[in-house]
Amino acid sequence: MSWTEWATTQLDELARAQRLRRTVAFDCDGPEGQVNGRAVISFASNDYLGLSSAPEVRAAAHNAIDRFGTGALASRLVVGTRSLHDELEAALAAWKSSARALAFNSGYAANLGVLTTLATADTTVFSDALNHASIIDGCRLARARTCVYRHCDVEHLESLLAQTDGRKLVVTETVFSMDGDCAPLDQIAAACRRHNALLVLDEAHDVFGVSKDAFVDVEVIRVGTLSKTLGSLGGFVAGPTALIDLMINRARTFIFTTGLSPADTAAAKAALQICDSARGEALRTELRRWIEMIAPAHPTPIVPVILGADGAAVAASERLLAQGIYVPAIRPPTVPMGTARLRITLSARHNLAMVSRLKEALDTKSTEIA
Ligand code: PMP
Repeated sequence: MSWTEWATTQLDELARAQRLRRTVAFDCDGPEGQVNGRAVISFASNDYLGLSSAPEVRAAAHNAIDRFGTGALASRLVVGTRSLHDELEAALAAWKSSARALAFNSGYAANLGVLTTLATADTTVFSDALNHASIIDGCRLARARTCVYRHCDVEHLESLLAQTDGRKLVVTETVFSMDGDCAPLDQIAAACRRHNALLVLDEAHDVFGVSKDAFVDVEVIRVGTLSKTLGSLGGFVAGPTALIDLMINRARTFIFTTGLSPADTAAAKAALQICDSARGEALRTELRRWIEMIAPAHPTPIVPVILGADGAAVAASERLLAQGIYVPAIRPPTVPMGTARLRITLSARHNLAMVSRLKEALDTKSTEIA
């Protein structure tokens, strides 16, 4: 069998299981855009505060290109660091109340960098069952042993920690990307304190600062992305100076790749300034309003509608698309088998008319919101 024939059989299998994926162009500037020439409102992006299209953020990216050109031209340790990178990292460290921060080319690369640097062969990693693929891949690539604890189950985590000797690292998302629920951080931090474990928090989807508090007597590393709340591209790690310096020396996803582009770096820095200001707070208030309309009392802008079968999720997504509303169907392996769902994400860039349209479309389908 040729490689092409083999690949075709694989694709046929995916199609039969309703799991075939392809990219679809969505030409947009904010939530409104065009799919195949049709006007569509998207409830699918992670641009929670709508900062990717803020005038100051666009201007910062333009200025950076005018000053420095388009690329970083080399890896960060060669000549790929501009003063812009240093400024962004200082701002990120201050934002996360950490001593230092280090930018990576994506949140994915940041998780790989943290885990491969810190989870050495004498370490055990304790990882939430619903952690993101980049955490799972970081654990696979690291030399440590990995123990998976049941989703948000601190008792299970605690029992696994108690059975283990040696260095320990607990890793969890603070806001889970496919369910929009929050980890019980105070209890997880207490377990880390009792068992002397390093706490690694992936805050990629944390637009409301659920893990803003400092944790007393626990060493914490925070992993974030520049691509969601900050509307740019890239990732970062924030934490104690020695751990960040070690990543500069050991994290292969930092060392062996070209630095973040000047435009992305400047855009993230400008977005962070807005995010951390009174205007950012006003955007979060707006966002809370939309969440309240779609899923009252839900804590985050990620609202899942669990439908179970893959085909049911695909059909629901297609029904909405026919009404000019794009909500993606999320299927295994992104989520566990039998929990295929619509994943609605809300943004401060949505307006009352858009959210009302979504609400009406969901109500007429009488789908339950988890
Ligand atoms: N962590 C989580 C929880 C995520 O959801 C994602 C992206 N979907 C990432 C990390 C990776 O971030 P990036 O898109 O910047 O690579």
